[in-house]
Amino acid sequence: MFDFNDLRKKFFDLLDGVDNLKKLEELRIKFFGKNGEIKNLMCEIKNIATENKKEFGSQINNLKSELELKVSEAKKKLHDAEQNIRFESEKIDISLPGKYKKLGKLHVLSMVENEIINIFIQMGFEVVNGFNIEDIEHNFTGLNIDEKHPARDEQDTFYIDKNHVLVTATSPIQIRVMEKRKPPIKIISPGTVYRSDEIDATHTPMFNQVEGLLVDKNISMSDLRGTLDLFAKKLFGSETKTRFRPHYFPFTEPSAEMDVSCFVCKGSGCKVCKNTGFIELLGCGMVHPTVLKNVNIDPDEFSGFAFGMGLERIAMQCFGINDIRLFYENDLRFLEQF
Ligand SMILES: [Zn+2]
Repeated sequence: MFDFNDLRKKFFDLLDGVDNLKKLEELRIKFFGKNGEIKNLMCEIKNIATENKKEFGSQINNLKSELELKVSEAKKKLHDAEQNIRFESEKIDISLPGKYKKLGKLHVLSMVENEIINIFIQMGFEVVNGFNIEDIEHNFTGLNIDEKHPARDEQDTFYIDKNHVLVTATSPIQIRVMEKRKPPIKIISPGTVYRSDEIDATHTPMFNQVEGLLVDKNISMSDLRGTLDLFAKKLFGSETKTRFRPHYFPFTEPSAEMDVSCFVCKGSGCKVCKNTGFIELLGCGMVHPTVLKNVNIDPDEFSGFAFGMGLERIAMQCFGINDIRLFYENDLRFLEQF
C-alpha cells in the first residue's frame, strides 16, 4: 500500500516555507496542477490490486481534501497579511497639517491692466483687441503720421517688410474700429507694442499700452477731461486731482498729457513725483479731423477723444518700481510681492 504520509509531510514541509501568495500558488500547482503530485498519485491506481483500489481512491480523496483546505486557509492568511501591509503603508494621519501647494497668480502688469479695463467697462467702454503686426496705413498713415515723421524711422520701428511693422502703439485699433463702425464708438483696447529702443531701466523694445477712443456727436474736451478725471479717481482714490498740460500728437488736436496728484505724498512733494506733487499718467486729445476723414467719418458731424497709457509706467509708479526690466525677468522674489 502507498504511504500517503510521505507526500503529506512533503506538502507540509513546503507549506512551512511559503511566505507569500506567489509561492503558495507555485505549491498549489506542484500538488494540484495537471502534472501535480495528486494527479500522478491518481495514475498509480492502475497498479493497485483490484480489491485495494477503493481504499486507495478514498485515501487520495481524503488527502486531496485535507491539502486543499490547507492551501485555501494559507491563502486567506497570506492575503490578509498583504492587505494589512498595504493598509499600513496607505494609512493617513488626518491630524497632520495639510501640504502647502503654491498657487499661481496674475502678473502685476495683468493686475494693473485688469483694473484699468474694469474702470472703463463700468463707464460703458467695450474691450477690443488689436494686432501685433499692422500695415503702414493703419499704424501710421491713418493716424496722420506722415512719411517724414521720425516715428516711421527704422531706428524706432521694427519693420517686418516694406509695408508691415510690429505695432508701435495701440492706436491702430482706432482706425480698424472706425473703418468698420459708425459712431457712437466707445472702445478700450489693451495691447503689446514694440519699439526698437535700447534696453535700460526705463526702456524695453516691447511693452504694454491701453488705448481708449470715444467718438459721437458733440463730444468736447470737457468730456475727455471728465472721463479721464473719473478714471484717475477710481484708480488712485477719490481725492486724486488731475491736470492737463498741452502736448503734441499727430493724431489728436488739441493734445494733452494728463498728470495725477502724487498718490504717495498727496501733492506735497516727494521722491516719486520728483517734488512736483504730480505724476505724468497718460497722453490724450481730441481725435484729429484728418484721422476722422481718413476713415470716412465727417468731422463736422462727429467728434471724439482718444487716450493712451503705458501699463509698465503706471505699475512702476503705483508700486515704486525703479527698473522696467523687473517685469520681464520672471524672478519670483519680485513677482510674489504683488
Ligand atoms: Zn509725491
